[in-house]
Amino acid sequence: MRVLIIGASHAGAQVCANLRQDGWTGEILVIGDEPVLPYHRPPLSKTYLAGKTTLNEQLIRPAAYYEKHDITFRVARVDSIDREAHTVTLSDGEKVSYDKLVLCLGARPRSFPLEGAELAGVHYLRDAADTEAIRDELHAKGLHASGRVTIIGAGYIGLEAAASLRQLGVEVTVLESAERVLQRVTAPELSEFYTRVHREEGVDVRTGVSISGIEGDEHVRGVRLADGELVPADLVIIGIGVVPNVELAAAAGLAVDNGVVIDDHGQTSDPDIFAAGDCASHYLARYGRQIRLESVPSAGEQAKAVGARICDKEKEIKALPWFWSDQYELKLQIAGLNDGYDSIVFRGDPAAGRSFACFYFKQGQMIAADCVNHPKEFVFARRVIGDQLAVDPDALADPENSLNDLLR
Ligand code: FAD
Repeated sequence: MRVLIIGASHAGAQVCANLRQDGWTGEILVIGDEPVLPYHRPPLSKTYLAGKTTLNEQLIRPAAYYEKHDITFRVARVDSIDREAHTVTLSDGEKVSYDKLVLCLGARPRSFPLEGAELAGVHYLRDAADTEAIRDELHAKGLHASGRVTIIGAGYIGLEAAASLRQLGVEVTVLESAERVLQRVTAPELSEFYTRVHREEGVDVRTGVSISGIEGDEHVRGVRLADGELVPADLVIIGIGVVPNVELAAAAGLAVDNGVVIDDHGQTSDPDIFAAGDCASHYLARYGRQIRLESVPSAGEQAKAVGARICDKEKEIKALPWFWSDQYELKLQIAGLNDGYDSIVFRGDPAAGRSFACFYFKQGQMIAADCVNHPKEFVFARRVIGDQLAVDPDALADPENSLNDLLR
């Protein structure tokens, strides 16, 4: 009996580990198209970009672990799935059979929709090769001290890259078309906070800008704005979101709704096919909607449920979503999802200093929290949101009140 996993990253690595923990004694084969064992992706825009870690230090598990547990990796690309024959076809035409198939296909960067993305010096940031290409170019051209990098997109990855590059001494401009940074995911006060911090660190943050294209001859020279200004750039990084890799699943006739649709056990609409991670979309009862999360904890949670189901064990996907982002010395920890919030409460002042917590409430119930250098508040929020506990927002706002007392 063979479990075949496509995609060798966070979700794929966790599925293999859980299969063995849950007692799977059959074959485990992982096919991934990156020429390296699964590694932690978050450092790519943080310590790895800043040159503080090696890829080897980022491996999720060492090679010896996979050898010991008889888990085989193959570097190849899967082009199609034949559900009836229980086979997949690789890009060289070879067919590989499976008894159970797990899709851990992740996501890819959303392509820049205007001209210029093909120029040398224009980069996306999704895998180790992307970060290495950025670092190599910075080194080769001696851009560390005097180079100008323009980042298109002020989401987490764009802002993390800005922080890492600033710390290397690079001049950084961030261009964002929305009115504020992190607009899709945080309250306006958090956007103001991150804009202020990046500006204090010397980043030129520009929001509400309209871009008409990226310009250069062979190599990028700058980013042209709709008002005619050319923002000069020796290197451009595009971080405008990701697109889930669902094409294989869709072509095989599996249900897809922004991601491959899975149930509480990670099973797709085919009982022999499972999915986990950034490519999967799951109904979260707590938020009353189908959601595709892009985070390491979520990939791990879904992968554990998949391993358990294949081994006939009980484990549902139900943990509260959480996420983190590191920029400069700031550790942002996010619990829950804030969609539909009707009020917010701060503990600490986001307009002064660099440490506070922001709690999102909906009809009196806490639904999410963004905690900047406030780990205790993060742990507290996860408990309150997860167990749907009642908290008095006014009492929470007063940092003199101990968090433990608020739950009595
Ligand atoms: P992926 O990591 O995308 O892996 C999918 C793998 O499948 C890839 O190797 C891909 O090449 C391969 N693949 C796809 N199709 C095929 C095919 N047909 N054949 C063979 N192989 C295929 N999350 C956090 O929680 N916190 C953070 O701070 C954070 N920071 C991040 C920073 C960056 C720069 C990036 C890019 C992501 C960050 N994330 C963070 C998100 C996190 O990395 C993802 O949620 C996580 O990687 C999802 O894991 P995955 O296994 O589902 O997919």
